[in-house]
Amino acid sequence: MTVVRFAPSPTGFLHLGSARTAIVNWLYARHTGGKFLLRVEDTDQVRSDAKFLEEILEDLKWMGLDWDGEPIYQSKRFDVYKEKAESLLAEGKAYKEGDAILYKVEKGRAIEIDDEIHGKIVFNTDEIKDQVMMKSDGSPAYNFCCVVDDVELGITHTIRGDDHISNTPKQILFYEALGEKPPKFAHMPLMMGADGAKLSKRHGAVSIEEYKKDGFLPEAMANYLMLLGWSPGEGKEVISLEEAVKIFELKNMSDVQARFDDQKLRWFNAEYIKTQTTEDLYPLIKKHLDDGGITAEEDKIKELIELYKVRIKTTKDFVDLTRSFFTEEYPIDEKGLRKYIEKEGNKENLKIFAKELEKVEDFTPENIETVCRKIMEEKELKAAQIIHPTRMAISGRTDGAGLFEMMQVLGKEKVLERMKKTAVLCPPE
Ligand code: GLU
Repeated sequence: MTVVRFAPSPTGFLHLGSARTAIVNWLYARHTGGKFLLRVEDTDQVRSDAKFLEEILEDLKWMGLDWDGEPIYQSKRFDVYKEKAESLLAEGKAYKEGDAILYKVEKGRAIEIDDEIHGKIVFNTDEIKDQVMMKSDGSPAYNFCCVVDDVELGITHTIRGDDHISNTPKQILFYEALGEKPPKFAHMPLMMGADGAKLSKRHGAVSIEEYKKDGFLPEAMANYLMLLGWSPGEGKEVISLEEAVKIFELKNMSDVQARFDDQKLRWFNAEYIKTQTTEDLYPLIKKHLDDGGITAEEDKIKELIELYKVRIKTTKDFVDLTRSFFTEEYPIDEKGLRKYIEKEGNKENLKIFAKELEKVEDFTPENIETVCRKIMEEKELKAAQIIHPTRMAISGRTDGAGLFEMMQVLGKEKVLERMKKTAVLCPPE
C-alpha cells in the first residue's frame, strides 16, 4: 500500500509551494487507495509556533484535503531519535563531537536515485560531509529524524520539492545505516514567479492565508496548484480534486519548473465563482463588505451577487465594484468622467434620459431599456453618448453589470438624483 506524508514545518504560514506538495501527495495517496499522513516537523522549538500549525491544518482542510490518523509531532519524539543515534554510535557508524552525534560518511561512493520525476540522479559521497544526527542541544538534525520517521511510518514515496534534492543522498545514507530500504523519491520542480525567479514574498502574496483573505476560493486554489507540474491532459484545465484523484499519476508530472501566474489563478477563481450559488457566495462577500465598513440588507447584497458573480475574479472584487450601491462615498473614475460626461452633448443626453425615466412607474430593466432605446433612436445616439455616461453618473465607474439591471437595483430615486447631479455638476462644456 502506498503511504505518503506531508511534513510541514510550522515556522510560517502555508506557502503556495508547500500547498502544492500537500495536494500532490494527497492526490497520489487517494488515487492509489493508500494513506496520506501528516508529520509536523517542529524540531526548531524557537521558530515553531502552534499558531502557524493551526493555520496550516486549517488551510489544508479548507482546500479539501484530509489526512489519515492523527498528525505526528517530531518535538515529541526526541527520545526516539536519540536512541537511534546512540545505537548507530554503539555500532561504530557514528561518533561524538562534544554532545553532538555525527554519522561517518564513507567517501568515494556513488549514490544513485531513480527519481520518479527526474529519472536517474547520481551523487558522490565525496561531496557529503559527516552528518549530524543529534545536535549538541539535544535536538535532532532534519535529515536524520526525517528518515527515522519515514521508516517508522512506512513511507513508500517521498514526494517533495526540488529544494530537498541535495538532502536525498544524505537520507539514503541513513536508510542504509539503519538497515532499511529507502522509499521511492519524487522531487517536484520548484514554483517560479512570472519573472522566472524562485517564488518569494517579492512576487506578492505567497501564502494560502493571503489568498484566502483576498477572496480566492479553495476549489480554485487547489485546481490551479495541482496543475503546476501536472496536467490531466486533453487540454482540460478546470478539474476538481475528486476528478483529479481518478486520473492522477506521479509519472505524468513535469520535470520542468512551473511558473506561477497570478492572472491565470484569477481566471480559475472567476470560473469557480460563476458556478457558486448566491447563497454560498453570500457569507464570503458579506465578510468583505463588513471588513470594508459597508452595511446593507441581505436581500440587496444577494441581488447584487446575482448580477456580479459572473464579473468578479475574487469575492473581494465585489466590494469596489458595488460600493456605489451601498453608500454615497464612492470614488469617481476621473478618466471616465472626461471620456463620457465631459463630452459635448452627453450631459444633455443624461438630462433627457433622466426626464423620460421620471415617467417610468415600474422601474424594471425592460422598461428602462425601452426608454433608453427610444431616445437613442430618435437622437441617433451611440452607447458612448448615453449608456456609458449613465453608468458613470450612477456608479462613478465605467465597468459593472448590465446598466439597466444596475439601475433597477440602485432604485429610481437614487438613479435620477445621481444623473441630475452629474449633469449639472460637471464643468460647463
Ligand atoms: N519540513 C520539510 C519542509 O517543509 C519537509 C521536507 C520533506 O518533505 O522531507 O520542507
